[in-house]
Amino acid sequence: MTNSDPLQQALKQYFGYETFRAGQREIIEANMAGRDTLAIMPTGGGKSICFQLPALLKTGVTIVVSPLIALMQDQVTALKENGIGATFLNSTLTGRESNQRSQAILNGAIKLVYVAPERLFAEQFLGFLNIIKGKMGIAGFAVDEAHCVSEWGHDFRPEYRQLSRIRQIYPDVPVIGLTATATERVRADISQQLELKQPYVHVASFNRSNLYYEVVPKQGNEQTYTNLLHEVKRLQGSGIVYCLSRKRVDEISDRLRQDGIEAIAYHAGLGAKEREENQTRWIRDDVQVMVATVAFGMGINKPDVRFVIHYDLPKNIEGYYQESGRAGRDGEDSHCTLFLGYQDLETIKYLIAQKVDPHTNEPLEAEQRIAQQQLRQVVDYAEGTACRRTILLRYFGESFQGDCNNCDNCLTPKPMEDWTVETQKFLSCIARAKERFGSGHIIDILRGSLNKKVLQYNHENLSTHGIGKDRSLDEWRQLARSLVHQGLLSQTTDGYGILKLNDRSWEVMRNQRNVLLPIERDATPATVSDRPKISDEIGDRPIDINILFERLRLLRKNLADEQAVPPYVIFSNATLNQMAEQQPTTHHDFAKLSGVGTKKLEQYADSFISIILEHHQQYPPAEITQSTKVQKEPVSSSKLSKASTQRETLVMYENGLSVDEIARDRHLKTATIWTHLVQLVESGYAINCDRLVTPERQSVIYGALEAIGGDGLRNLFDHLREEYTYDEIKIIRAIWQNEKEPL
Ligand code: ADP
Ligand code: ZN
Repeated sequence: MTNSDPLQQALKQYFGYETFRAGQREIIEANMAGRDTLAIMPTGGGKSICFQLPALLKTGVTIVVSPLIALMQDQVTALKENGIGATFLNSTLTGRESNQRSQAILNGAIKLVYVAPERLFAEQFLGFLNIIKGKMGIAGFAVDEAHCVSEWGHDFRPEYRQLSRIRQIYPDVPVIGLTATATERVRADISQQLELKQPYVHVASFNRSNLYYEVVPKQGNEQTYTNLLHEVKRLQGSGIVYCLSRKRVDEISDRLRQDGIEAIAYHAGLGAKEREENQTRWIRDDVQVMVATVAFGMGINKPDVRFVIHYDLPKNIEGYYQESGRAGRDGEDSHCTLFLGYQDLETIKYLIAQKVDPHTNEPLEAEQRIAQQQLRQVVDYAEGTACRRTILLRYFGESFQGDCNNCDNCLTPKPMEDWTVETQKFLSCIARAKERFGSGHIIDILRGSLNKKVLQYNHENLSTHGIGKDRSLDEWRQLARSLVHQGLLSQTTDGYGILKLNDRSWEVMRNQRNVLLPIERDATPATVSDRPKISDEIGDRPIDINILFERLRLLRKNLADEQAVPPYVIFSNATLNQMAEQQPTTHHDFAKLSGVGTKKLEQYADSFISIILEHHQQYPPAEITQSTKVQKEPVSSSKLSKASTQRETLVMYENGLSVDEIARDRHLKTATIWTHLVQLVESGYAINCDRLVTPERQSVIYGALEAIGGDGLRNLFDHLREEYTYDEIKIIRAIWQNEKEPL
């Protein structure tokens, strides 16, 4: 690789990446030039490199302020894997450890020092900083999660307030602030609080184009759970399921486990130790799904989260954006699903109504009003029929042109129906009942009910009684909700939910306004499976590449466990995928993979290459290109699904599962699994059959094949005196035939 650009060269050398992501280069250049900088990028935008690369290239030590111990540890671990001298100093260390680390810093072995803000201003540390300054110099300060300085943000930390002191003590050392905060107010606050001097400000788009957004209506507890289970199975990979309450977290994680999903729970009701253990198990890929309250997630850097499902309604859009944004930091396709249930809506409304001043017990009206408005925005998002991305980004002041092609509304637009006439019936019924009732009673009248309440008020005599029998209860309810959300009808907030007509209601009644209603798609599993699958491309690549990927992944997991680090610290999934596809067998080629820098090449190339070489004995590289070619031709969908079900069997078999285990796991008959394996051998895959048929039995079957040939299965069965099953005979016959006439 010839590359004359020193920044890009350094990026490859230290981090293994070929090119900068949007904004990174400009931020780095500003920082290198000694300018203050404010980097605002969404989660996964690649903020870390913006201060880490300059830290490596400049003389002196860079001090990184970070609010969470977990975050510091994570980044330091990742840096060390890349062979970069980094360390952290915080309250978890013993005095001796602290001393050792301080010594290492003064020896010049460390380029990045992570500290908590309270530590930074301890007298002792300030003294130490001065020594660093004199001895090697301070290259810069980086303030990570910089929104913590702002009271307007969701994460205010009073310790961050002191950070402007850095400016006073070291006026000439450049400061870079980094955050994923999306709101304007907080951004302005950061600049001011950190006293940045004419900073270079980079605001990236907050569009996360690799995230697929969708909303699924809840359909009763059982069906909703079934939909969740289906989603988790379908999406695969690491994921988070957010629930509103601890009780629900426990319930859902239990049920998922009973249904064979490796799920674990996290909420404030668990002890600190258990929380940490559960978090670590999830981060290290020992379990697949984290079921949690929103207490979980801050400071989680796991890049390969493939889905975030909100089982219950989030409380506001900002929260939803941040929580769902924990998916897909690595830039790979990921899913964000929100289950919309009106029951949850009532629960949250109830919780909001409980907000009282702890001293006076008076309702906190302003807070309640804000919370209600925020909730309303969530509902608007969830019920909205426009591009989800447009709705989300508009909330953060960013205009997006729509048609993202990666949300449910863009991919399968909800059909709209004209409900003006029904609305007129509904509204006039409210008028006739003198605007004194909630939607339940109005619907009863429309549907011609003669229940006690209807009779009590003589509402069976209203002209609107029974004029709405042609619509179901659910349809009327949906209409009522939608009218309120669209502002075509008002509703009292005193807890009774009495419906009141407003100006816009009258416009509808006077035929001055039409009412359109989205028709809900139901989310039965059948339609769920129509939705895009993650990583289609990967799913449809040749099976031998998938097998190699699984093998490489296993090696990665073992290496990670040996070092007690998360697997993604060794290599990202993106790197592993590239490795499985390109199958490098030399250091030269291995170094070309994205994510392989100098240190990782040296440390890991040999182990991974040896797996690739082993794999080549079974699947020689020449065949790979051939099978890739075959796959590239258009295949009918039935063929594809057949291939993919066989592939799943093969991958499981290659991972050491027995036929019975595979059948149980996949809810298939053992006979089907055998058929898959036989067909795979027939189409040329080299499967090691020793686990299926013992070598001794194999040689007897071979003998029979040599003696009477492979044409009549029944003949073979008889020849072997019925002591061998048809499955055994079929698979050995397939191998024997391949050997005779290689494909
Ligand atoms: P943020 O802090 O903005 O959420 P990170 O700094 O953790 O994002 O980066 C997210 C992921 O993207 C990490 O896995 C990181 O290694 C990767 N990454 C960052 N910059 C690049 C790049 N230029 N090319 C490829 N991957 C990158
Ligand atoms: Zn869209």
